[in-house]
Amino acid sequence: MTAKALDLKVRDECGVIGVYAPDAGTLAVLGLQALQHRGQESAGAATYDGSFHIHKGMGLVEKVFTSQPDLPGSWALGHNRYSTCGSSVEANAGPFESDTDLGRVVVAHNGNLVNAPQLKSLLSGYGLAPASTSDSELLALLLRAAPGHSWPDRLQWMAGQVQGSYSLVLLVADRLYGVRDPMGNRPLALGRLPDGWALASESCAFSLLGGRPVRDIHPGEIVEIDFSGPKPAGQLQSKQHAFCAFEYIYIARPDAIIGGRPVHSVRRSIGEELGREHPVAADLVFGVPDSGTSAALGYATTTGIPFGEGLIKNRYIGRTFINPAQGERERLLRMKFGALPMHGRRVVLVDDSIVRGNTLRPIINLLRDADASEIHVRIAAPPIKEPCFLGVDMATHDELIANDLDEQGMAERVGADSLRFVSVDGLLRAIRGSRDDHCLACFTGRYPESIGGFIANRRREEVAV
Ligand code: SF4
Repeated sequence: MTAKALDLKVRDECGVIGVYAPDAGTLAVLGLQALQHRGQESAGAATYDGSFHIHKGMGLVEKVFTSQPDLPGSWALGHNRYSTCGSSVEANAGPFESDTDLGRVVVAHNGNLVNAPQLKSLLSGYGLAPASTSDSELLALLLRAAPGHSWPDRLQWMAGQVQGSYSLVLLVADRLYGVRDPMGNRPLALGRLPDGWALASESCAFSLLGGRPVRDIHPGEIVEIDFSGPKPAGQLQSKQHAFCAFEYIYIARPDAIIGGRPVHSVRRSIGEELGREHPVAADLVFGVPDSGTSAALGYATTTGIPFGEGLIKNRYIGRTFINPAQGERERLLRMKFGALPMHGRRVVLVDDSIVRGNTLRPIINLLRDADASEIHVRIAAPPIKEPCFLGVDMATHDELIANDLDEQGMAERVGADSLRFVSVDGLLRAIRGSRDDHCLACFTGRYPESIGGFIANRRREEVAV
């Protein structure tokens, strides 16, 4: 069993940042710390001060940047990576650079391209072959192959070739570009710094740099930042918006602002919907720390059940240390969480989502040992029934517990007295979105139209097998 198969939760593929400010390299590395939750396999940064400088390696940001790397200049970008495509090796660490007839471009990418094999064939027609298995490198090479005398023109051409999700930051000498794919599937925000500007996957990176969020980059928007600040540089043709609903549920930090709302508030609203849809008689409600806490607060608000502490998280047990042999999950969960005495109370345990369902049972065992008389599980996401192909690593179709069991079956599997999910409509009310502007494919199986061809092929292949 691989480390990935034992992941406690879903993982996003990457976090990206771009900075124009004095000592931009240091600020970009700081920003990567704020975005560490979006990728832990490798980290890298590049700067420009008349020449390009790049430093990258495997591991967390603090490990890759232990000694002060030589990253001078006022222009920088950074990249945290977690692979959903390509393996976890140094060759796949971002950012990626490419020398073109417009000069060098360095690319940081968050997302996943579903037509990577076709893109490799296209690039080989230009005599270009990637040195890694990362789809992010394909974007750097496409910008080299692209026709056009400006970067926005080349981005337009690139967008015509690729299918999938991408939020990009490009560093091209003394300019940065920020781009979101036409669906706007992955986030990207613009921020104002005391002495400059920044782009980042999540706005929480700006406050660490002493700055503030300005706005989200719009789906398909190309923004250029030069000496005079940010300005519009083009719009990719967009048929359908499909922002990832899972960013609200689990991926983004609670202090990030997306669509003008703090993610914590959205999660609280999801918990309120959950409370309206699935109330229960109980004495205490609490979340699985940390990602279930905001929704637990919302659940407590609408049900009137007191909110409190129930589980204590050991903050020194990191993901990177969790690579156990099968059967050790219970012990690992007990390393990660402790339960406060429950004194026979009936409790509601709120978690953000259920993927494989293999982490809930040990937590419920902990609570039973702590003398909880009833344990009612409430999940702040609809049942996950389909895999993600747009940059979130969750599981294969067969590994997803919701394809195997209904709510009653899941409650029995994990040892809970009851288990209920928020509905898709409840989720949409909480995020103030619709099926036409958000991706909900892992819950509904309805993938964005722009990857429809890829999904149809996969389904044909599955039937053939
Ligand atoms: S399938 Fe799920 S995780 Fe993937 S982009 Fe859509 S909503 Fe997000």
